Amino acid sequence: MTRLAIVSPCYNEEAVLDSSARRLDALFDRMTSDGLIAPDSFVLFVNDGSRDSTWEIISRLHKANPHRFKGLDLARNVGHQNAIMAGMMTARDMADAVITIDADLQDDLDAIPRMVEAFAEGYDVVYGVKVERTADPVLKRLSAQAFYRLQEKMGVKAIYNHADFRLLSRRVLDELSRYREKNLYLRGIIPQIGFPSTTVDDVISPRQAGKSKYSLSKMLSLALDGITSFSVKPLYAILYIGLIFILISLGIGVYVIYSLFAHTAVHGWASLMLSVWLVGGFILISLGAVGLYVGKIYQEVKDRPLYHIGQFLD
Ligand code: UDP
Ligand code: MG
Repeated sequence: MTRLAIVSPCYNEEAVLDSSARRLDALFDRMTSDGLIAPDSFVLFVNDGSRDSTWEIISRLHKANPHRFKGLDLARNVGHQNAIMAGMMTARDMADAVITIDADLQDDLDAIPRMVEAFAEGYDVVYGVKVERTADPVLKRLSAQAFYRLQEKMGVKAIYNHADFRLLSRRVLDELSRYREKNLYLRGIIPQIGFPSTTVDDVISPRQAGKSKYSLSKMLSLALDGITSFSVKPLYAILYIGLIFILISLGIGVYVIYSLFAHTAVHGWASLMLSVWLVGGFILISLGAVGLYVGKIYQEVKDRPLYHIGQFLD
């Protein structure tokens, strides 16, 4: 029987936590009586530096049922990916498999028993793949799908329409713990680890309460991590664009020499200004792209810990 840990990151989730805990509780009862998971399976809520009463709720849940609900209180907000990592690394020694799911339980709870079944069949990684996400706002859905495609073009190996709803076996977690990177993008790392993997369908439902905790800036920075942490293609693209620019300027040079000999008047103020701006813009964009990578190297070199645990309710 599988000893299962469900890891759920919470950032200002007081509006949904109680109802999410109730739903998980019922799910655990069902799976335990079906003989699917061991009775000492548990839920680990990771409080990612919430400013509301999230931690109080987690503590209360733990007090009422310490075997089922555990809590991890991070010292400050470190973001979704790092919070998940903190939870998984904490649960790793206490479970055979860990499933990560967002605290608002927008993912399909029915997929969880199927994930555990797949694990029992020998799969180390089970991805929840969104088959139906009409509950997501249109803009979010479209931008996410455009991003998945861009990622594919950039050569990043990631599962299409899969976010962070997945099951990982203990040995995958052990391997994951060896990744030292700070710009964490789990969707890119997990497929790199390997081991047998499969998918289960995940039907997204609307958020039960509260607003999305993924601000535009958090989403953008995740998307940038998703590409810059796994692909150097943007750097190569700059190189090629630069080459094309040099070719164009060679062409212009030929034309200038020709017009000198042909005595055609040079009245190029507008085109001069245009090219100054064009080239200036190009240089800035290139610098920005290079800066992205340099910034990441800077962060990796510092080798700072991903999170600091304030308290662990076991
Ligand atoms: N979250 C987190 N830290 C953050 C932002 C979000 O732990 O800094 C958690 C949040 O509590 C939720 C999950 O990440 O459990 C996904 O956030 P949300 O449901 O708001 O995102 P959306 O479903 O809108 O993409
Ligand atoms: Mg959500």
